[in-house]
Amino acid sequence: MPELIRKCSQCGTADRRASWSSAADAAKGDAFTRPWACGSCAWTEFELVESEPEPANPEATAGTR
Ligand SMILES: [Zn+2]
Repeated sequence: MPELIRKCSQCGTADRRASWSSAADAAKGDAFTRPWACGSCAWTEFELVESEPEPANPEATAGTR
């Protein structure tokens, strides 16, 4: 199940400190009313994007064995 996270609309840095299961959930969780600043550039505008799963272990799929 993809999660929604904030993504800075200025520099594109994804903020994984908070995540929601849906846009409605984000609205309910004060995602839009609570002040937010990008951890990278301190921009205050963001968009909600689906978080992409991080590769668990890149070496495991390298096929070295
Ligand atoms: Zn930023």
